[in-house]
Amino acid sequence: MRLSLTQLSLTAVVALAVVLSTSTVSTEAFPAPIDRRPSSSSLVSFKSYDQHRVVRVKVQSEEQIKILNENEGPLKFDYFTHNKNVGGHIDIRIAPENFSRFQSLNLNYETLIENLQTVLENEHNENLAYQNKWEASKNNRVSIDGVDLKEGTAFVSAADWFAGYHSYADHQTWLNTQIKTYSSIASSFSAGQTYQGRSQAGIKIGNGPNNVVFHGTQHAREWISTMVVEYLITQLLTGSDSRVADYLNKYTFYAIPIMNPDGFVITQTSDRMHRKNAQSNGGCLGTDTNRNWDSHWDEGGSSSNPCADDYMGPSAFSSPEAKNMGAFLKSMPNVVSYIDFHSYSQLWMVPYGYTGTPPSNYDSYLQPLASGAVNALADVNGVQFTAGDIYNTIYPASGNSADYAYDAGVGAPFAVELRDTGDYGFSLPANQIIPSGKETWAAFTYILDNLQTN
Ligand SMILES: [Zn+2]
Repeated sequence: MRLSLTQLSLTAVVALAVVLSTSTVSTEAFPAPIDRRPSSSSLVSFKSYDQHRVVRVKVQSEEQIKILNENEGPLKFDYFTHNKNVGGHIDIRIAPENFSRFQSLNLNYETLIENLQTVLENEHNENLAYQNKWEASKNNRVSIDGVDLKEGTAFVSAADWFAGYHSYADHQTWLNTQIKTYSSIASSFSAGQTYQGRSQAGIKIGNGPNNVVFHGTQHAREWISTMVVEYLITQLLTGSDSRVADYLNKYTFYAIPIMNPDGFVITQTSDRMHRKNAQSNGGCLGTDTNRNWDSHWDEGGSSSNPCADDYMGPSAFSSPEAKNMGAFLKSMPNVVSYIDFHSYSQLWMVPYGYTGTPPSNYDSYLQPLASGAVNALADVNGVQFTAGDIYNTIYPASGNSADYAYDAGVGAPFAVELRDTGDYGFSLPANQIIPSGKETWAAFTYILDNLQTN
């Protein structure tokens, strides 16, 4: 499937925040919008979530977990979060036709979002306003940050780029422009081709003997993860942090902003809530690639129902996206850390997800690293994350990336759930991109300062 730039531009991206009111963006950076878009801002071409509710269920007993599991398929639960432990809570999207049956389950719940469609319309409208200015400003960009640019190039200052969310096409242009601009320290690479033939494109930065791999948007709807990965890339390239020069001698970074581009494009063109990749499975679209890694695959915390949002796929590594990343990690010597960025829930997690018994160096190495990272993160904006192993911190999840990486010999693998804790969920306002980037950079550098290296 080929998508034109026009299609992407019309539907792309979103920002709940009024981006121009943030202190980091001046209105002068964007000329008046030019009239190249339709006036309609409705989501007519998108799947509708009218009257879909998002509820938070407080899990109070094993019996309630059983009820949730039994009804996941019949009531088409879409788990927005995954903490299905007694004493925890889990956020679930429920379609209107199933809501009365959900109520009859007599679970303890509160409603987070009355009508998901309203949230998505607001997000879309705010984003269109940003996109209009963004598109118009492209024509006026000739030289920014001292770099001479041709008309139409999507290279802009970091403050402008991180003021809003972007189309897939603009992300590609952004990445290529970084690689070109910083060619003395950066080059391109790809983990492989997706199911629909897109590249899992990345940027390699630095010359050190220790490899660090990280990526965003394994789950398509978790847009903040791409922006945060790009923020970390920007920090490594521009080196405003005085430690960066040392990092580039000690480490080589391999960063992929969009690990699941097929799914990401779906969220920008037809279904904002799409989580999986684009493989067709029994009439339902997509495999949950983060339940598809060849590590204790199908050992709990994943679904065999192709329509479920945590569908594990027909076999381990049946999804090219997970298989490519796994092969990439395995082929590379001396990977001292791997980070798979997700949202939302504010968690910094380490293996395992398939078992409640953590790895042998959990107490001596993995847990202290994760705890140090969340403390460093909290120091920036006061935002609290929780550190722990996947199984006990959220939920059993077999076939996940961090488990695979650990068993493949990666020193310190992490699965991170970024902001927030449910107020906006996947529709995190654009004015939280830079704060999220800054605090994640603090956590990231704590890890870089404390990794066991060669
Ligand atoms: Zn995720």
